[in-house]
Amino acid sequence: KVVDPNALIRMKTYVLANANTAERAALLKRPVLNSDAMIAKVKPIVDAVHTGGDKALLGLVAKFDRCSTLKDTPILRAPFPELSSNELDPTVREAIDIAYANVKKFHAAQNDGTTLKVETMPGVVCSRFSRPISRVGLYVPGGTAILPSTALMLGVPAQVAGCKEIVLATPPRSDGSISPEVMYAAKLVGASAILRAGGAQAVAALAYGTETVPKVDKIFGPGNQWVTAAKMLVQNDTDALISIDMPAGPSEVLVIADTTCNPAFVAADLLSQAEHGVDSQVVLITVGLPDSTIAAIEDEVDRQARALPRVDIMRESIAKSIIVKTTSVEEGLAFSNDYAPEHLILHLKDAPGAVALVQNAGSVFVGAYSPESCGDYASGTNHTLPTNGYARQFSGVNTQSFQKHITSQEVTADGLKKLGPVVATLADCEGLGAHANAVRIRLRTIS
Ligand code: NAD
Repeated sequence: KVVDPNALIRMKTYVLANANTAERAALLKRPVLNSDAMIAKVKPIVDAVHTGGDKALLGLVAKFDRCSTLKDTPILRAPFPELSSNELDPTVREAIDIAYANVKKFHAAQNDGTTLKVETMPGVVCSRFSRPISRVGLYVPGGTAILPSTALMLGVPAQVAGCKEIVLATPPRSDGSISPEVMYAAKLVGASAILRAGGAQAVAALAYGTETVPKVDKIFGPGNQWVTAAKMLVQNDTDALISIDMPAGPSEVLVIADTTCNPAFVAADLLSQAEHGVDSQVVLITVGLPDSTIAAIEDEVDRQARALPRVDIMRESIAKSIIVKTTSVEEGLAFSNDYAPEHLILHLKDAPGAVALVQNAGSVFVGAYSPESCGDYASGTNHTLPTNGYARQFSGVNTQSFQKHITSQEVTADGLKKLGPVVATLADCEGLGAHANAVRIRLRTIS
């Protein structure tokens, strides 16, 4: 594709009030992902690891991760080696330490260690308590960038939830090593092993286990379409008996701005999303903004993009991005709730007040001084969030994603005297005589 570097970097503009039902639906749409085709492509890779174990896995790591130096096993077991200041820049180490502390503080507070106990009838006590998922696999992408932030965002909740086996998978470098930043994050979160493999082969190894790779119970993390399709495939295989965090798609932001906004800040937020990839989804909702302010934002987008290193990616993603003009915060947020964005940024006069209107979003950034970047790296909230409209029914990764809840009941003889007849009646009504019998056999012993 020939791209004209002199062309203005511009979004497309729509007026929401002028859009009919079909046009509004089109504005809410994401690009269609052809998941069936991807699943067909990853199936041979996943099957090869399932049946061939370590030998097949190492072959696929050599082929697709382009690392042929690993012998016998791709697994590195803790304790991992210390990193010198030559290997890990002390300023980066300190930044990782601060991000780790904030993410840990916020996720530890979500830890549901309390037991819920309710006496529903005299002598009938129902409880609910949480337990960690024992073995978890964390996929940290590594094809095009190193992502210690993702290692923290997945590893910290696993650590505070109390998961026993934490296996962090990431594509190795060609010499078989892992970037020191990801290695340091793995140490901080107490990972028990690092799987030096990426793509579908890493997901398969985590799902089925091999001679040396521990099988896990749940797989978390973002990744490219190979990783995503493999997660979808293994979650449907009863041999793997595994769950995944959530369906994943290209990253998104929706920014809502009123007349109090700073056009340069708004443009910077749009671009910080647009730089992720050419498929990034960027939406700007304007609330009563005069054309001159919209033009100021557009000029800032063009000016700032040209000064940034990933301008070529932004040129493509911004061209696919939209500006939707609305006249009130209510109208803007109604559209946002229908869109259900992964990230929602509020550049509004009363941004905290507008949070009450938010029904669907992965994470919300409230006010002019809360850029998405803070949540992506270090404020404390998680950056693994639902995309593609799944914020309607999914939460982002959190501490409870690494736990399950178990319920229990304890019924006394007195309790059964009251509850038993109710249960026996319902069991009779459903024709389940053995159920009714299990109650009546006891009731006969209670005077
Ligand atoms: P990745 O680790 O997801 O994928 C790289 C691996 O994919 C390779 O090592 C290889 O094993 C496999 N692969 C690539 N091409 C293949 C082919 N033709 N056949 C078989 N296997 C192949 O790294 P990535 O590619 O850089 O992608 C990272 C993704 O994660 C991006 O889409 C990024 O936007 C996303 N991401 C999302 C978040 C989030 O929280 N939403 C955070 C970080 C990254």
